Amino acid sequence: MTSLTRDTGLTQGREQGPDAIRFCTHCGAVTDDAPRRVCTLCEWGVVLSCARGAAPRPGAAFLIVTSDLRVSAASATTEPLFGDTDQLVGTVVLDLLHGDVTLPRQLARAAMGSSRQVTAWVRTDEHGRPRKARIAGCGDPPAALVVLS
Ligand SMILES: [Zn+2]
Repeated sequence: MTSLTRDTGLTQGREQGPDAIRFCTHCGAVTDDAPRRVCTLCEWGVVLSCARGAAPRPGAAFLIVTSDLRVSAASATTEPLFGDTDQLVGTVVLDLLHGDVTLPRQLARAAMGSSRQVTAWVRTDEHGRPRKARIAGCGDPPAALVVLS
């Protein structure tokens, strides 16, 4: 039963519906219509879709995380937090975001297409202040969108 619900076209098509919006993984530009896979504004980021309410606000720092909990993209705005965004690709996200024991599961669920949007508290360094992280699904390919505030 579990695999049935997980693999239905319903969850796959979620990001393509009228409530979906597109955003650039690098500059964070949000748009309803993206004719190309690569962002036309910054010519650098890849354009992904997510639920409208999950899209990053202008200037927000966010990470794209795959179901094996590795960073597949990081917005330009994460640079003050983590350094060179190109170097972040492939990094284990739990080395960057320190949260409670449920964080890995929340990230994996979102990356596997859960339509639930959850909020977690994370620290970007061990003794830093806690930040709110909004975790939602995005794609395509399926990944977790983690927006820090
Ligand atoms: Zn862009």
